[in-house]
Amino acid sequence: MEMRTILVVEDEREIARMVQAYLLREGYQVEVAFDGESGWVKFQTLRPDLVILDLMLPRMNGLELAQRIRRESTVPIVMLTARSEEADRVAGLEMGADDYVVKPFSLRELAARVRAVLRRVEGVVASEMIRAGPLVLDLAAREAYFSEKPLDLTPTEFDLLAILARHPGRVFTRRELLQALRDRTYATIPRTVDSHIKNLRRKIEPDPDNPVYIITVHGVGYKFNPGKGG
Ligand code: CA
Repeated sequence: MEMRTILVVEDEREIARMVQAYLLREGYQVEVAFDGESGWVKFQTLRPDLVILDLMLPRMNGLELAQRIRRESTVPIVMLTARSEEADRVAGLEMGADDYVVKPFSLRELAARVRAVLRRVEGVVASEMIRAGPLVLDLAAREAYFSEKPLDLTPTEFDLLAILARHPGRVFTRRELLQALRDRTYATIPRTVDSHIKNLRRKIEPDPDNPVYIITVHGVGYKFNPGKGG
């Protein structure tokens, strides 16, 4: 497999160097920038596969840099934030960051996030299809079909359906579903899942009041039942 390049933008040099050393050992090529301006320059010349971005940076802060990167690239961004920067973290996710790690973090945790984000991005690029009974989801094109008819789904509905349909018959708790949707929604109340499910049922169930595909497991959560054909 081709070597992945990661750009680390972090003004605390010791942290930057530690992250660099750790990720080098994990088999990545790693470049470091110590402020926002040089981060931007290095981003443009390197075209990295992933950016690790500290929020509080001299000469252009992390949010501004994330925004600038997003204007021209879908490269995954993992933010580093302090515990006290909750509002910034939300802003960062809205600005298009894919994940974040709260300082102080373990290098192992950061590396795991990096791996997961890369896997997710590359999985999507690989034109993955999910087929479960009458349902077909094209993850690359983000198109959904039910009995060959295109479905008009919101991004959250699409992701929710993809999670359920990828593991037909497996019961997911509301909390798990919410966790899996973390990139999409800042909702923390498990019941918000219910309203998305309700909307999904209206779009795929022959009789939304008596669902046969998206099944409620009382007291637990939901599962996808592909039906006889699946
Ligand atoms: Ca900093």
